[in-house]
Amino acid sequence: MVKQVRIGKTDVQATALGLGANAVGGYNLFPNLKDAAGLEIVRTALENGITLLDTAFVYGLGHSEELIGQALKDFNRSQIIIATKGAQDFSSGEQEINNDPQFLTQQVEASLKRLQTDYLDIYYIHFPDKKTPKAEAVGALQRLREQGKIRAIGVSNFSLEQVKEANADGYLDVVEDEFSLLHQDRAQDLLPYLKENQISFVPYFPLASGLLTGKYENDVHFPADDIRSQMADFQQPRYGQILKSVNQLRPIAAAHQATVAQCVLAWYMMNPYISVVIPGAKKAAQVAANAQALNIDLSTTEYEAITAAFAEFEAEKSGKSLADPD
Ligand code: NAP
Repeated sequence: MVKQVRIGKTDVQATALGLGANAVGGYNLFPNLKDAAGLEIVRTALENGITLLDTAFVYGLGHSEELIGQALKDFNRSQIIIATKGAQDFSSGEQEINNDPQFLTQQVEASLKRLQTDYLDIYYIHFPDKKTPKAEAVGALQRLREQGKIRAIGVSNFSLEQVKEANADGYLDVVEDEFSLLHQDRAQDLLPYLKENQISFVPYFPLASGLLTGKYENDVHFPADDIRSQMADFQQPRYGQILKSVNQLRPIAAAHQATVAQCVLAWYMMNPYISVVIPGAKKAAQVAANAQALNIDLSTTEYEAITAAFAEFEAEKSGKSLADPD
């Protein structure tokens, strides 16, 4: 039985592993993306039992959503969970973050058109702006929920205070933020609050942009138009320390006849604070391989060994570990 999770207090149910779709049509984030490859990535995810697709307006300025809308025509919409996001306003000619209720309502309508669907399973406010009271922004999404256009309400990249404000009326179902074995900063403040309030957590960059897959052994260089060229994780000496931690996972992977990436993804699925893990992919074969993580059951000892292998990164934040399963 494939691991299923419920989003917040809603009746939205998804596989515990979804597809991060920023490389599906996300030509503004990565070089050399092809539409055909993007369509194949989405189809492969759905054919391998993944039900949740995580996209956003800003991935290709609508193009990721368009490709997903196209790919979904061959599948049963009712069995697919579409999560998308908005807040980027280009009306002034430059990108501004806008959480104004009217703007968010227009964004949802535009996403529905691009995705060729009449409802979104999850809609996230992608980033907080500085001016809109967060309960007002979420209130606009709640009205769209009452109209049947959204099933679950999310926010992304919000501070704990902003999350609390957004949840003032109890409408918030899910939060998406950066979290991985390498970046556990949100563990201390945000995650306990979410668990106490039955709000799901979806970590992004779960594979640290490929670094946690175990495929890197030497220095790597990305072109300037690839966001990884600016990421601290890919710069020495931190890069070398990360590879040492990743190498400690190889015996666990071998014991399961699995890859390091699959074991890392299984670790997230066992973490009691995490709802859906959404690895991205550039190739269909990566999606098919990542989907296999749904079939891996780590023992508690293996789970703890993976946690321990990244202890020095976890220790970058202060306080105790939140990685212990209940
Ligand atoms: P990620 O999941 O940490 O890494 C994905 C990358 O790792 C892939 O593009 C691929 O890149 C490599 N990879 C994946 N599976 C692999 C495998 N089996 N073997 C070898 N390499 C593999 O990073 P991400 O895709 O940037 O983030 C995940 C998702 O989170 C995104 O797609 C997006 O949906 C979401 N996100 C949300 C926010 C937000 O603000 N809410 C921000 C960032 C991301 P290469 O082949 O190039 O190595």
